[in-house]
Amino acid sequence: DRRKLVVGNWKMNGMRAHLDEVEAIGRVAAQHPAVEVGLCLPATLIMAGSERRGAAFIGAQNCHMDISGAYTGSLSAEMLCEAGASWVITGHSERREARGETNEDIAAKSAAAHRVGMKVILCVGETIEVRDAGRAEDVVSQQLLASLPEGAAADWLAVAYEPIWAIGTGRIPTMEAVASMHAALRAALATRIGAEADKVRILYGGSMNGDNAADLMALADVDGGLVGGASLSAAKFAPIIEAA
Ligand code: 13P
Repeated sequence: DRRKLVVGNWKMNGMRAHLDEVEAIGRVAAQHPAVEVGLCLPATLIMAGSERRGAAFIGAQNCHMDISGAYTGSLSAEMLCEAGASWVITGHSERREARGETNEDIAAKSAAAHRVGMKVILCVGETIEVRDAGRAEDVVSQQLLASLPEGAAADWLAVAYEPIWAIGTGRIPTMEAVASMHAALRAALATRIGAEADKVRILYGGSMNGDNAADLMALADVDGGLVGGASLSAAKFAPIIEAA
């Protein structure tokens, strides 16, 4: 049985003044022990956030694939882990698209995070052109298999399906489309890792909010959410945690 996983991705948002929200969300997490709750903070807040996280875990939003070296401005998984991040997001579309990250990069980053004992949320998702062409399930399944790290297992890897056109837009796919995509992704995983695929949590992300979260997370293969805008305050995030 897969424990629901609800994770906030703060993206490039959050100053020290927002640590009060981290603490408030950590308290909500403590009230819902059946749900695993986390916040992927900007790197500047990871250390302070991890001291005020309550029952929520703290994660990072990206890591470098190498252990150390001449990579100005980058952070290794080991550094993020030491700062207090126990999870890291890899392959978010905002990095695949704007930062040119490839499937191979994402597999390498995910493996690097695993080597230092971090858990990984590996993101995949299609553009609106691919969705409209009726190719979403094929394309996203391929993307997942191409960015899946060696030895992927449910105790350290979760997948997030985030249709790019649903991120920050207020639009979401139909429940049928989400259910069908998540089933397709689990089937794709099974071709690589067999029965282990049944244990891997597959999250939905893209305009998830307190109004749609319960319906989304009631779908058979939807094991939680990766939440952007609605995770920035406890007031907006709590209803999503409660819906899980
Ligand atoms: P929104 O919830 O703001 O649409 O963002 C989703 C997302 O990209 C989470 O990683």
